[in-house]
Amino acid sequence: MPVRLAILLGALLLVPAAAAQQRPVVVIDPGHDLRANAQTEPIGPGSSTRKIKDGGGTHGVVSGLREADLNLRVSLRLRTLLERAGVRVVMTRTATAGTSIGNIARARIANRARAALFLRVHADGSTDPTARGTHTLYPALRSGWTDDIYSESKRAGRVVQADLRAALGFPDRGLQERTDYTGFNWADVPAILVEMGFMTNPTEDRLLATAAYQRRAAIGLCRGTLRFLGRPVARRR
Ligand SMILES: [Zn+2]
Repeated sequence: MPVRLAILLGALLLVPAAAAQQRPVVVIDPGHDLRANAQTEPIGPGSSTRKIKDGGGTHGVVSGLREADLNLRVSLRLRTLLERAGVRVVMTRTATAGTSIGNIARARIANRARAALFLRVHADGSTDPTARGTHTLYPALRSGWTDDIYSESKRAGRVVQADLRAALGFPDRGLQERTDYTGFNWADVPAILVEMGFMTNPTEDRLLATAAYQRRAAIGLCRGTLRFLGRPVARRR
C-alpha cells in the first residue's frame, strides 16, 4: 500500500508539468521586415533552384502603410488572443526594424519550436487595383519535402481561411497550393500563409489600416487556429 500510495502521489505531482508540456505551440510569422533581403536561398532542401530571400512586400495604395507593419500589428494581436486561450506562441519577429531574415530561417524557427502550426501572416498586392479578397496558401505535395506536412497543412488552410474570411467579410479567394514557397518546403511542421486582403485595392487597404479590422483579422485567425488545434473557441468577448 505505501508503495502504491507513493506512486499515486508521484503521478499526481507530475500532472501539472505534463499539462504544461502539452500546451500546443503556434509559431506566428509576420511577413517581411523593414528592409528586403536580395540574397538568395534554395527553395527546398537539396534544390538547385534559388529564390530571393524577401522582396520586401507590398504597401497600402491609399494608407501608405507598409505590409510588414500591418502583418506585425495583426500578429501581435493574434499572439495576445492565442495566449489567453492557453496556446504557447513563438514569434519570428516582434518589431519591424531590420533586414528580413529570409524564409529558411523562418521555417527553422517553426521546426525548432515543434510548432503545431506555422502561421504566416501577409497581405497581398497586385498591379490590378480591382483585385481583392482573402486567400490562404499551403504547401503542395512533394515527396521528401512536404509529404509529412501536406494533409495537416491543407486542413489548417481550410479551417483558418473560413474563419478569417468570415471575420473580415472580404471576397473568398479560397485556397491555393504552392510548390515554390521556400518557407513551406523547409517546414517540418504544418504550415499555411494567409493573405488577409489586397493593400493595392483602395477599399481593402482603407479597412485593413484600421485597428478595428486588424482586430477582426486577429480574431478570425485565432478562431481558425483554435479549431484546427481542436481547442475550445471562446465566445465573442
Ligand atoms: Zn507579403
